[in-house]
This record gives sequence, C-alpha cells and structure tokens, in this order.
Amino acid sequence: MMKTLFLNPPSFEGFDGGAGSRYQARREIRSFWYPTWLAQPAALVPGSKLIDAPARGLSVNDILPLANNYELAILHTSTPSFESDAKVAEALKAKNPMLMIGFIGAHVAVQSELSLKHSHAIDFVARNEFDFTVHDVASGRPLAEIDGISYKVNGKVVHNRDRAMIENMDQLPWVVDVYKRDLVIEDYFIGYLQHPYVSLYTGRGCKSRCTFCLWPQTIGGHRYRTRSPENVIAEIARAKEYFPKVKEFFFDDDTFTDDLPRAEEIAKGLGKLGVTWSCNAKANVPYESLKVMKENGLRLLLVGFETGSQQILVNIKKGMHVDMARRFMADCHKLGVVVHGTFIMGLPGETHDTIEETIRFAKEINPYTIQVSLAAAYPGTYLHKQALENGWLLRDSSHIVAQEGFQVSSLNYPHLSHEEIFAALEKFYKRFYFRPNKIAEITFEMMQSWEMTKRRLREGVEFFRFLYGREDRV
Ligand code: SF4
Repeated sequence: MMKTLFLNPPSFEGFDGGAGSRYQARREIRSFWYPTWLAQPAALVPGSKLIDAPARGLSVNDILPLANNYELAILHTSTPSFESDAKVAEALKAKNPMLMIGFIGAHVAVQSELSLKHSHAIDFVARNEFDFTVHDVASGRPLAEIDGISYKVNGKVVHNRDRAMIENMDQLPWVVDVYKRDLVIEDYFIGYLQHPYVSLYTGRGCKSRCTFCLWPQTIGGHRYRTRSPENVIAEIARAKEYFPKVKEFFFDDDTFTDDLPRAEEIAKGLGKLGVTWSCNAKANVPYESLKVMKENGLRLLLVGFETGSQQILVNIKKGMHVDMARRFMADCHKLGVVVHGTFIMGLPGETHDTIEETIRFAKEINPYTIQVSLAAAYPGTYLHKQALENGWLLRDSSHIVAQEGFQVSSLNYPHLSHEEIFAALEKFYKRFYFRPNKIAEITFEMMQSWEMTKRRLREGVEFFRFLYGREDRV
C-alpha cells in the first residue's frame, strides 16, 4: 500500500464544506460534520492518515510539512471550495513533486475533465462512489486498469469506465476505527445535536428525486443500499466503547427512514445498547414507526420540509404533501420526538407569497429548531440544468458562497431577485425564533444545565454576528 494521506483541505475559517456536509458553507453558528466520506476510503487503506483541517483549525502552513511523508494524497473537494482546494494541492505538489494527488467528491465526479485541466497538481479524480477506486490506486494498481477514474496522460484527460456501485454495503469497513485513530471527537459540533456526538452512515442513496439535492444525483444514487442491522448495531457498540463521552449517535443516511422495517429493527438493537440516537428522515414516517424508534432511544429527527408551498413541493419533485408534514409533526410533538426542520428559500416557483406561506407553515408546525438555506444550483443536479436553461443563474455556479464562506443566493428570477431571496432568510429566522414561546422553550432548555447555558449563549452570539454581518455579502 502507498503511504496515503486523506485530507479535508484548509479552507474558509469555519467552513463546513468537507467530506460530510450536504450543503457546503460556513454555518450561522460554528458547526462541523464528520468527514465520513474520507474516513470510509481511509478505512480501506491500512496505515493511512485522515486530517480534517477545518475542524482542527489547521492552515496550509500546518499541512505542508507533511507533504514529504506521503506518496499519495486524497483531497475531498466541493463546488464552492474547489479553487481553494486546488491551491492546496499545488502547494503540496510544490513541496513534494513525487506526491500523487487525487480529488474526490461530487464536484469532480460531475466535472472531471474541467477539474483535471484546472490544475497541474491534480493527477486524477475518482468519480462517483470512490471508496474502492481510491483503494485500488493506493494499492499501486496502474491507473489504466482502475474503474471510475479520470487522469491525465501526456496532458490529455483519459476517462476509464464507470465503477459499479457497491451492492454489499457490509463490505465497507467501519469508520469509527478511523475516527478513533485520527480525529478528536470534541471538534465536531452541530447546534441541534448533543455534544459530543458521532455521525456515520448505515446506507447510501435516496429513493426521492428532489431536484436540488446533490448527493443522490451524483454519488449515492436513487436506490437505498443498506448495511445489515447487525453490522450497524455492532459498529455503534464499538463506538460506545471507544467514545464513552459521546452523548448521541447520528445516522447521516440521506433518508434513514426510507426502509422502515429495517429502521425499526436497528432501533430495537440500539434500544438494547441504551444509546441516544438521531437521524435524517422524511416527513412521512407513520406514528407506529415513530413510536418504536422513540421507545428505543430516538431523540431527534432532521427533516427537510423545504417549503410550506404545495406548488413548490411539486416543482422540486419532493414527493410530499404539506398536510402529511402537518400530521407527521403532530405525531412527533405527541411522542416527544425533537425535530430540526430545514427549509430553503428561492426554489423554483418562489414568490413573496410563498415566502410568507413557508414562514407561517414553519411557525405552525413548530419544529424545535430550524435551518434556513438559500437554494443552490450545484452542478450535477436537475436544478442546475433547469437554472442554466431558464437563465436563472446569477453568477458562476462556484460562487454559491461569499468570500468568508457564508451562503449567497446564486439564483435570480424575473419576479424575485437574488437580493430578495437573500433577505428572506433573515426575515425567516427572526420571525421563527423571536416569538415568546420559542424564547421560553430555549430559555427552559438552558436552565437544565450550565453546560447548555454556555453553549446556547455562545451560539446566540455567533447567530447575531451572522445575521447582522450579512448585509455586505449579498
Ligand atoms: S428526500 Fe432528502 S435526501 Fe432524498 S432526494 Fe430529497 S432532499 Fe435529498
């Protein structure tokens, strides 16, 4: 095996754009997802090292001295960070010209040729589901023989045939062994998850076809390919041993509840382990399943409601009905399942009226916390194609974040400008959070422990800085 470095490259300060983040930006409050998409191939390469530079607060100067210690470096990239990641690759290559550098991630899967031509420092890109592609490179196989790879021969880009998707997901080794070996779990914060938390995947792919959603359209596909419940439960048992301080486990599968009998079986196994856990879900989980999950340690569901407008749900092919979401939320409230709801401003069909409708809807169904994003047309998504065809793209698609890494609106409609979409986000947050009931809920939570009080105060300061510093970024 080649001596291999897996690197989440240094980027904007606080940039949560790496190998575990579904939309890549600096957050309203400091947050980091685990670099699971790097940890997975790292687990396949014995003796490798995973460095998550943004979460550790490392700069390029901190990373450069390592260049001579490795033969192969795998960098995870994203659309907004690609140019900066290419500069990191160039600095590593300048330090060690013998270092072979490969890029992975949705951006290079979709734009493999452009990415390779962008920088002399990128020797290859591993497209789509890249775990075993990277393993093959690290094991020294000639690039010409490796499926799923694009690389340069005498300056010309060669694309090998696609790699077949992984069908037996249990053949992937556990990421928690890499987390234990290389990461500091206290580095990872998510506002709505207890700290410290650990997140991982129990399967890949999502049955739904939401037009804006990046991963199922690029890496994971539209079949939910899953690990066996026994395998998942055994990994959580191992993680519990490794990290006794962890307060919560999070399953970051696109939609963990896409296979309900399996979700219930895993829940029962977790219940026996006595752990607290949370997961991504769609707002269509029936009461009976929610009850089984809640009785077995489920604390929180992360749910993409996106909008309160039925017409926009149709436009984005969400396959959901707002009344179903209302029923689901009523069930969650009844069972005491906490919900973090995510919404998007500026999806196709958005108007001033639908913005109002969505804010009203969010207040009505009342998730415990919310996250509001601006619609981003990532290359590789149907939304990107639609935006190009209709002339909605205001700027180059790489500019979906501003200099400091915060999101900006890249979509602009004839009837709704990017400035109006940008402004809607702040209005949404203020109208949702600055309500007596919501303030009382959060104050009550803070009164439960001094740790929580300190954390919420810090997040409150960051949140206000985010809101009041954003006018310049539009
Ligand atoms: S349900 Fe969620 S994960 Fe699945 S395609 Fe839609 S937004 Fe993406």
